[in-house]
Amino acid sequence: EECRKILKEEIKTFPDWPEKGVNFKDVQSILFNPELALVTSHYLQELLPKKDSNSFLFNKILCFDARGFLFGFDLAKASNTPMILARKHGKLPGEVVTQTFEKEYGLDEIQVQAGLINPGDKVLIHDDLLATGGTAGAAAEIILKCGAEIAGFNFIMDLSFLPGRKVLQKYVHDSKIQAL
Ligand code: 5GP
Repeated sequence: EECRKILKEEIKTFPDWPEKGVNFKDVQSILFNPELALVTSHYLQELLPKKDSNSFLFNKILCFDARGFLFGFDLAKASNTPMILARKHGKLPGEVVTQTFEKEYGLDEIQVQAGLINPGDKVLIHDDLLATGGTAGAAAEIILKCGAEIAGFNFIMDLSFLPGRKVLQKYVHDSKIQAL
């Protein structure tokens, strides 16, 4: 609760960027403030779905290109869990699993290296921000394509005036969609 308040006050918003009508929340302003970055990382870790005090309800963490990598690595270390990079089209070597999804203007694509997600895995999805849910939903589809389970979603911010949370409820119970 306190962290949310601090974030709200400290995060810089750029109105009408990258296009008119969008108020862009800039993660740079968290990273530029070491104390705020530490607090953010700490509280994101507290949100991780836990079975008990020393085990987690997920065994892999999938993080999104590119701002999802920043705090995602902290979460992977804190939970001693393999980290998977979900990248934009054409960035990954080797065989990949691809999911197409809709953005405001046309289609976009995310990819994960084949073989990293397997049946029986419980994968947690992390990104910096939940807006319409298109991106995180595409990550969820990749996990299902690989025959694995979605353990939950973890975000720094959830733009609650947008339908992202609703979209993701198709994949997990609302209590597993967590944001500061
Ligand atoms: P969605 O697919 O939910 O509409 O948008 C979420 C994706 O777009 C995330 O990968 C996120 O990084 C990016 N994004 C959309 N709006 C913002 C914003 O205001 N600030 C930041 N940092 N990222 C955003």
